[in-house]
Amino acid sequence: MVKEKHSARMERIVSLCKRRGFIFQSSEIYGGLNGFWDYGPLGVELKRNLKDFWWRRNVREREDMVGMDGSIIMNRRVWQASGHEETFSDPLVDCRVCNTRHRADQLPERDGKKYCSHCGSSNLTAPRAFNLMFKSHTGPLEDDDNLVYLRPETAQAMFVQFRNVLDTSRQKLPFGIAQIGKAFRNEINPRNYTFRSREFEQMEIEYFCHAEDGLRLTDEWLKERLKFYEDIGIPRSKITIKDIPESERAFYSKKTYDLEYEFPFGVSELEGIAYRTDYDLSRHIEHSGKPLEYFDEAAGRKIIPHVVEPSAGVDRTALALICEAFDEETVTGDKGQTETRTVLRFHPRMAPIKCGVFPLLKNKPDLVAKARGIAATLRPHMQIFYDETGAIGRRYRRQDEAGTPFCVTVDFDPLGENGPTHKETVTLRHRDAMTQERVPISELLPRLMAATL
Ligand code: ATP
Repeated sequence: MVKEKHSARMERIVSLCKRRGFIFQSSEIYGGLNGFWDYGPLGVELKRNLKDFWWRRNVREREDMVGMDGSIIMNRRVWQASGHEETFSDPLVDCRVCNTRHRADQLPERDGKKYCSHCGSSNLTAPRAFNLMFKSHTGPLEDDDNLVYLRPETAQAMFVQFRNVLDTSRQKLPFGIAQIGKAFRNEINPRNYTFRSREFEQMEIEYFCHAEDGLRLTDEWLKERLKFYEDIGIPRSKITIKDIPESERAFYSKKTYDLEYEFPFGVSELEGIAYRTDYDLSRHIEHSGKPLEYFDEAAGRKIIPHVVEPSAGVDRTALALICEAFDEETVTGDKGQTETRTVLRFHPRMAPIKCGVFPLLKNKPDLVAKARGIAATLRPHMQIFYDETGAIGRRYRRQDEAGTPFCVTVDFDPLGENGPTHKETVTLRHRDAMTQERVPISELLPRLMAATL
């Protein structure tokens, strides 16, 4: 029953995302492509706000962090050194009864036996390793010498360029490199909307440090990342911290936390924070033969830095933001009737559109000119939506569904038609409380800037 309620909620979220232009199926007119998604006009703004805030928090506001932007396709030897070519695989099983394909570790299990999640049969093939990296070739020859992979994570570029970044940025330990970019995984079962996709974006940090600071810094990053989620509108109470036991961690990791969010389809991973010791740099030193060490002045010798890696998904966080914001409430309409108001209660910082600007009537040139002028003044600073069609209540509802935190309506007051006290003022409407206040036009920009920063 509860599950049914949750899946119905998810269906309504998916339908709103399509209807309002957040997310579309990739190549939809050709039947789509499983595991690939396109972001529409509102979705792309949401993702951009998320990435910009992550970048601001983790790069611009910190002295000990720098950014980089690596290529998606790298020398194949990178993936041999990192271990991805050999071990980046999922156990794949086929159901012999209904011919569906599954990840063995995601199948239900009873009395030590796995069952097909589609038809319930236990007649399954033995698991075989399926490498998740997409392959391609550079140049015209499709042979082994030209084999390349689409990166399955952004992290490796930051290890491979560690020396160049260190030499050019003049950072000292501890310091970090941050990167946002696309990653590709040929997931066996893409599912739960955009949650498990085959093409997605990551926001990753490699924070290099002395060995003795690794565990402490992992806990500091945990706090930092929890604060980040609160600051974008995902409350602490909706996030579960999973302290991964040693038996389930990568063999080189001394500590790993998974941060999980309570999605309507279940509590699932948003981000991993892993203390990876000196594994990655050591592997690249070994495979490339190049000196990726750091000269530790205090100790007077070279060391291989350790690393803490907070690795988050843009698409999963965007989906969490949408799920968290989605609300349906019963309200009383203009004519006293009860109706359902669908509203996305985004934190103003994340909202795709910050402010709607409306003239009360579209056939009054003075009002239209005033409203257009206000929109033009605000536009260089934030995403604005100008709308002059339909009753004002309908325009508010449209913005509620888009998650727009503020709307400005230009009525006759700014023109001085209702007396001098209200001249040069407009109505500012607040999405969540649906309250309205009269605000001088000159105060709009500073107020909206402060609320959406
Ligand atoms: P999962 O166990 O869900 O497959 P993972 O532990 O393999 O994830 P990581 O390799 O730690 O994931 O990747 C870091 C982050 O990248 C994840 O926390 C997630 O936000 C994002 N991510 C990973 N795989 C996908 C995917 N297929 N679709 C969307 N985002 C993903």
